[in-house]
Amino acid sequence: MLKVYNTLTREKEELQPIKPGIVTMYSCGPTVYNYAHIGNLRTYVFMDMLRRAIKYNGLKIKGVMNVTDVGHLLSDGDEGEDKMEKAAKEQKKTPREIADRYTEIFFRDLELLNIGKPEIIAKATDHIDDMIKYVTDLLDKGYAYETSDGIYFDISAFPEYGKLSRLNLEDQIAGARVEVNAEKRNPADFALWKKAEKNHIMQWQSPWGMGYPGWHIECSAMSRKYLGVTFDIHTGGVDHIPVHHENEIAQSEAREGCKTVNVWMHGEFMLVDGGKMSKSLGNTYTIAQLEERGYSPLAFRYFCLNAHYRKKLNFTFEGMDAAQTAYTRLLETLYKHKVSKEDLPSEKLESYKAQFCAAVNDDLNLPLALGVLWTMAKETPCKNVYRAALDFDRVLGLSLDKAHAPEKSEEPVPQNVIELANKRLAARKAKDWAQSDKLRDEIAALGYKIADSKDGYTVEKI
Ligand SMILES: [Zn+2]
Repeated sequence: MLKVYNTLTREKEELQPIKPGIVTMYSCGPTVYNYAHIGNLRTYVFMDMLRRAIKYNGLKIKGVMNVTDVGHLLSDGDEGEDKMEKAAKEQKKTPREIADRYTEIFFRDLELLNIGKPEIIAKATDHIDDMIKYVTDLLDKGYAYETSDGIYFDISAFPEYGKLSRLNLEDQIAGARVEVNAEKRNPADFALWKKAEKNHIMQWQSPWGMGYPGWHIECSAMSRKYLGVTFDIHTGGVDHIPVHHENEIAQSEAREGCKTVNVWMHGEFMLVDGGKMSKSLGNTYTIAQLEERGYSPLAFRYFCLNAHYRKKLNFTFEGMDAAQTAYTRLLETLYKHKVSKEDLPSEKLESYKAQFCAAVNDDLNLPLALGVLWTMAKETPCKNVYRAALDFDRVLGLSLDKAHAPEKSEEPVPQNVIELANKRLAARKAKDWAQSDKLRDEIAALGYKIADSKDGYTVEKI
């Protein structure tokens, strides 16, 4: 039985789907105004692990992920420009062109990382009517009010506000840097709908004039539409906890009058060289940039698997080198099993399977699960070990069916090694075996192995 950590209760809980056999899950998706960086993508690797673990346990899944193509302002606190519009102005394109371009790149990145697409992908701009209806209901129920620039949620009407982050309101407000707006009833009230200025490109007709939705409302409206009043799991990054997800809870529970999400799960941050990832530091790498540097996207996935999703993961290029090497070694090791005709005793194999399953079901302990795979892979070559690895790969998603024979080193053999080899060939012809052995040792000391052949010799990197 799969146990997962619920941010709301701060406890590991057995996952009990509301409807037996099928898990309903909503995942906060990307705001498509720029490339996703590796820190963003780590969150989706986590989402994918969870989806795979659910399926590994024989459950079905109905997953929804939103694509934010309108309404996400530069800060979470209703401040600044619309991210989509800002990117559109900078790149001299329409917001639609920007959204389509980065949506396409985002899903290509997911594919490269073997991240399965949730069953339903919901674009915010396709659901404006649902959001207007949602805001109307909140107004009717007395949870929202109108000002000269929009419709706001009145958090004083929802006393449980803050229960997910367990922050008090003052910390909350300081953290979110909410705008000073004299018309708001409480500083932390947030926009459900913004009335558009004339020059705002994306705007829709609403009961409150032309405008556009707030960012938070899209997740409440779309999860309600596709998953019903209460659903099983909601995922996102830890950065969503204090504002975005608190606001979602407030909107949804206020409208429905009951709990709407059973389990909240959050993936931790990725650091770069021990520090924050930020555009200004130039360390927000993309998958394309990793590929340019010679790393395979799946080596990045392997890198992510090395840390538990609730722990911060420090990205370094040394770490990526190690991941790339380990991943290649894993594929080569498994190849020996693939071509073997032996079989490991079934009790032993079953024990590995049980250990793997226990690790996965303990709140997705993938570092431990990967360790079980490695221990199993170090057994003497056996066909059923390969088959078990493919079964584990349903969770790991590392394309282990691509197991291959070790690739021959393509680096040229250095000149000094060739000279020594030629000297050794001459010594052998002169039957000077002592000299020949001495030269073989010298070649070995340089990291090369020499073997005699009919026509002379072959040299290979050790
Ligand atoms: Zn969301």
